Amino acid sequence: MSASTAERPRPADTKKVHITETKMTLKNWYKHVNWLNVTFILGVPIYGVVQSLWVPLQLKTAVWAVLYYFYTGLGITAGYHRLWAHSAYSATLPLKIFLAAAGGGAVEGSIRWWARDHRAHHRYTDTEKDPYSVRKGLLYSHLGWMVMKQNPKRIGRTDITDLNDDPIVVWQHRNFLKVVVVMGLLFPTCVAGLGWGDWFGGFIYAGILRVFFVQQATFCVNSLAHWLGDQPFDDRNSPRDHVITALVTLGEGYHNFHHEFPSDYRNAIEWHQYDPTKWFIWVCKQLGLAYDLKQFRSNEIEKGRLQQLQKKLDSRRAKLDWGVPLDQLPVMEWDDYVEQAKNGRGLIAIAGVVHDVTDFIKDHPGGKAMISSGLGKDATAMFNGGVYYHSNAAHNLLSTMRVGVIRGGCEVEIWKRSQKENSNVDYVRDANGQRIVRAGEQVTKIPEPIATAGAA
Ligand SMILES: [Zn+2]
Ligand SMILES: [Zn+2]
Repeated sequence: MSASTAERPRPADTKKVHITETKMTLKNWYKHVNWLNVTFILGVPIYGVVQSLWVPLQLKTAVWAVLYYFYTGLGITAGYHRLWAHSAYSATLPLKIFLAAAGGGAVEGSIRWWARDHRAHHRYTDTEKDPYSVRKGLLYSHLGWMVMKQNPKRIGRTDITDLNDDPIVVWQHRNFLKVVVVMGLLFPTCVAGLGWGDWFGGFIYAGILRVFFVQQATFCVNSLAHWLGDQPFDDRNSPRDHVITALVTLGEGYHNFHHEFPSDYRNAIEWHQYDPTKWFIWVCKQLGLAYDLKQFRSNEIEKGRLQQLQKKLDSRRAKLDWGVPLDQLPVMEWDDYVEQAKNGRGLIAIAGVVHDVTDFIKDHPGGKAMISSGLGKDATAMFNGGVYYHSNAAHNLLSTMRVGVIRGGCEVEIWKRSQKENSNVDYVRDANGQRIVRAGEQVTKIPEPIATAGAA
């Protein structure tokens, strides 16, 4: 090669373009498909369904298929997910072997591959680097990401040095095809065949169809658990809690909790919630097979729950009319206020705040005369017990009618002064910066009831 060739585009560069970086067309669509995964996720199950049309299902085989479903499912949830992806607890060698074999039988890739993607999913949830981001659609997060080819460069980086140091993980990764054949098909077939002579039934039901159900259940954690249910701990990302997802996934359905507290060995924290994976790990601990079960303090969990609740309160509060904030109201001179009231505007000053009650006079529960007698005056005392000790609801309603503040009048001036002095104002504000007005805390409310002689 001469130096001049370096100037021209080299064919090697065009070959390096990953298929996912080219647009899918009628001519190249099949190149975008991951045919190996299509075979395992869709092709083989279709074959199983067709066979099941004439292969009779024996009761013993059915029971065995369900048991084996739970065993291989736990391999994923208790093994791949909580033990290896999240290190939520430690396992003894026998338990590790038990789980690595079970997870292999679920035919969802090796521990190393699965945990790597799952760590990226947690680290980059809902972003471009999330391997199964639900933002790309429910179907994509369920199986689209496996059926279509992925650009390996797109998926976020994660640290899996701990997994590379685990001999069980390394062995399973290197011998994965053997593990799949033995644990996915051979073993369930042999149990049914040697046990009660149902070789082909074992192959179809405990092998192929059971794999299909375990796979679909696991895929639900990536799709359904990011789509259906509540968000009691944080609603900035997609993970959600729902009992249906929990029922389908051996307890992985409390996914909002899980994304907040990923290294907790539990997904469900309430005793009545369905989390058989947690129960399994707990039993293993009692048997001495599992140890160092990680658990977040309930104090931390409650803080998250409370903050989310606060956020919901804030958004409900923001929908309500609390009146114009005091610092945004125009400042009026007392004489101007009196003048305007005299000229027929229904203005009433309470605690230094001017309210326009023109449209309210006829609706005043205490009668037209009472409210009219306060117009153009300082009605602070009248309103706060002088004539009638108004309710919290009355103070709330009054605040929606405020139109100005009087120079030198009460709280506003104090507030403005403290703003100038840059000292802390002890008003509590919500996430939107709105002042939180608790019951009995409206500015028009004077803490000590004023008994004025004039009212009597
Ligand atoms: Zn998730
Ligand atoms: Zn997880």
